[in-house]
Amino acid sequence: MSLAIIYSRGRSGLSAPLVTVEVHVSNGLPSLSIVGLPEAAVKESKDRVRSAILNCQFEFPAQRITINLAPADLPKEGGRFDLAIALGILAASGQIPTQTLSDYEFLGELSLSGDLRPVTSVLPVAIQAQQLGRKLLLPRENLAEAVLIKDITVIPAEHLLAVCAHLTGQTTLETISQAPTQSTQLDTELDFADVHGQYHVKRACEIAAAGAHNLLMLGPPGTGKSMIAARMPTILPLLTEQQARETASIASLSELGVNPATWLHPPYRAPHHTASAPALVGGGSQPKPGEISLAHNGVLFLDELPEFDRKVLEVLREPLETGHITISRANRQAEFPARFQLIAAMNPCPCGYLGDASGRCRCTSEQVAKYRAKNFWPVIRPYRHAFRSTQNRS
Ligand SMILES: [Zn+2]
Repeated sequence: MSLAIIYSRGRSGLSAPLVTVEVHVSNGLPSLSIVGLPEAAVKESKDRVRSAILNCQFEFPAQRITINLAPADLPKEGGRFDLAIALGILAASGQIPTQTLSDYEFLGELSLSGDLRPVTSVLPVAIQAQQLGRKLLLPRENLAEAVLIKDITVIPAEHLLAVCAHLTGQTTLETISQAPTQSTQLDTELDFADVHGQYHVKRACEIAAAGAHNLLMLGPPGTGKSMIAARMPTILPLLTEQQARETASIASLSELGVNPATWLHPPYRAPHHTASAPALVGGGSQPKPGEISLAHNGVLFLDELPEFDRKVLEVLREPLETGHITISRANRQAEFPARFQLIAAMNPCPCGYLGDASGRCRCTSEQVAKYRAKNFWPVIRPYRHAFRSTQNRS
């Protein structure tokens, strides 16, 4: 057999489209070409795959090898197709059997020695492999993320040799289909009970948490605005499995990754006020989710709201209304969900001490009005639930 077909999955926004890796070995001058819109990291995979195959004592065919990653119009990125390409070459050159390959989807980057290295965005792959009833063979480091999906068959592996031995029937790799039982307790050191006094703010937070309202906290520095906001997720209910799956899929796309111990907890994101618009809503030539999507089904906390750039806050307007964000780039478009609870905090006046009992505030009413009208009010106004915190004297 000189043609082999292997299934893998790419990434496009939150979905993981099927990528068919077709390998054809034919007579001719020895060469290897990869077609199907591969990016630099995918083109480099031919060197990794060649070294991995040779270091595993297999034969690298001295023939003309053509690798096609279909569909051709989907950009392919990263080293996630290395394992599929290596198995394709071995199958097309008759070194491993081809009969059972269609039962699997393969994911993983190869080291030069044949070790399997973890890849990103595994959860969307697992969701779709499970729907098709295929077994998912992936690097062991990615196992914890994949088994979060119910009724999936996952085969973790550490080395190309182990994968080949499994496919030829010499040994059998461990098959895992049962996710470890999930903790339904919030496993965090933060606790809303840590907040002493501040009855008005606590009441406001409880109402905001119960009704999923946005909240603006207004108070002098040091009154605990940030501390209270960080504890908001602890009074929110745990996510449903559907919500957790959405939130974890977004985290899986970013460098954050998914922590199986906390995947049912509402996320909490607190970007610094120097954050750029793409950092907040997402961006990049290969669109990646921003802070508002990472906070999907959880809390986005913007401390020192007036310090944020007006243009940055303006981009929040649309996702606040629609609950999702569409990022368009020249060669592709991606849509990410962004239904988050916005908690913002600011000082009541430029010096921060308006209304303080010490009377140290010398700001004029014009200064205060200008400060409050500065740049964020248009964004917040329709969603305003402002409560004032006072100096904590308890
Ligand atoms: Zn002042």
